[in-house]
Amino acid sequence: MLLTTEVLFHFQRCRRRAFLDFCGDTNQRDPEPEFLLKLQKDSWAHRQATVAEMTHIKPDCPPGDWAAGASATLELMRRGVERIYMGVLAASGPEGFTLVSCPDLLVKQPGESGFGDWLYVPADIKLGRRPKLDYQIIAAFHAFLLESVQGGSPPTAALLLRDKRTYWVNLAQRLPQMHKLVRECAEMLRRRTEPEVFISRHPCSLCHWLSSCTSLATATKHLSLLPGVTQSRYEKLRGLNLTSVEALAGAEPAVLEPMPEFAGGVARQVVRQAQAALQNRAQALIETAPNAGSFPTAPVELYFDIEAEPELDLVFLHGVLAIDRHAKTQTFHPLLAKQPSDEGAIWQQFLDLVWAHPDAPVFHFCDYEVQTVKQLAKRYRTPAHLWLPLLSRFVDVHEWVTRTAVLPVDSYALKSIARWLGFQWRAGAANGGHCVVWYDQWLETGNPFFLDAILSYNEDDCRATHLVKDWLASFLSGNRGEG
Ligand code: SF4
Repeated sequence: MLLTTEVLFHFQRCRRRAFLDFCGDTNQRDPEPEFLLKLQKDSWAHRQATVAEMTHIKPDCPPGDWAAGASATLELMRRGVERIYMGVLAASGPEGFTLVSCPDLLVKQPGESGFGDWLYVPADIKLGRRPKLDYQIIAAFHAFLLESVQGGSPPTAALLLRDKRTYWVNLAQRLPQMHKLVRECAEMLRRRTEPEVFISRHPCSLCHWLSSCTSLATATKHLSLLPGVTQSRYEKLRGLNLTSVEALAGAEPAVLEPMPEFAGGVARQVVRQAQAALQNRAQALIETAPNAGSFPTAPVELYFDIEAEPELDLVFLHGVLAIDRHAKTQTFHPLLAKQPSDEGAIWQQFLDLVWAHPDAPVFHFCDYEVQTVKQLAKRYRTPAHLWLPLLSRFVDVHEWVTRTAVLPVDSYALKSIARWLGFQWRAGAANGGHCVVWYDQWLETGNPFFLDAILSYNEDDCRATHLVKDWLASFLSGNRGEG
């Protein structure tokens, strides 16, 4: 039985993921999310570009044959080559497992090892800018196996981060943490102890077991489906035997409030969330609802949603839905950069459009649009009078919903709320990640199908924001409570 880098990586993020990958029913796996495939592709390209700048040798072995890879890597280390790319390390582990790791690079350094007066240190090449803890644990895993293979401890392990910065992992700190995880993981896998499901946006949104886990969580009305119930709060609720929606809905917030996890009004929030789920109806937050009268409604309203490509640091679409209540018209304006060089032009088109309706509030969902407008203004040195007054016209519908109502939804994301109100996206289960993938595919192929997919997805986001805003305005004025 193998315990690989990949298994250990997933075990850190979700124990259930490691378990299902090891012995779950593969028929229940979803296809890999498109956005994840794009991230993997970008990451691979970055790794290739990084090693292209340095001399290196790859072990000569058939793909997927870890034993042949380990033996070819050992041979290269014995020869003392300077850098080994995609080497394989293997050693015996706990519970009868063989531990296998594949550091991106093994770099030769002066030192003592079974080979002579040199040894190797492991280095992983990361697309990210931060030395995340799970990367460091994996680096410690490489270092541990390397010690066993070369007969000498590597003094450190490196993470080569995106901005060409090298982060040196503190092995004295990370090795004990890594050993504990390896032991726990091996024991779980050998005993086949299935971890409880727990749905959370991260890491579930990029997991191929999401449909299967969501079905289980829904069937069992798992508390992780309630917004605000995080893993650490769930552990506390379990300690109080509050593990069902019914039990939590009937709990006194005062019982939870002394625990730091439920401080600052969280206790009331999660109990109310359970009550809303149990009754399947919205509740107004009476302490904040009096402000509802200031929720803007205007003859002309704009609904705004941005699509961007983070890898290219590019905003490629400003979608604006103009609602004219008097004329009873709804016009969608897709301001699209067909090429990255069009970003400045569509920014100008956006400014022209919003200033053509100088009194219209600009509704959006979450803070991203506001932050992006500020960034674009800076990037294109836009005069302050063209963008600064806009900020006071922006209205964050998400902020209004969460401040004034409790809804029977599994999250306060636009998709969950609008679907609860009956809205359907034409693109089914697509999300913002799909738009990024579609835009990359458009740039690669020139196929207009991908642009059409982006525009209809973005228009639906704007229309969904409009629906949620209208529902909230009506709810706050009449406090109706149904979806
Ligand atoms: S969907 Fe979530 S809970 Fe299920 S295995 Fe994946 S990460 Fe874990």
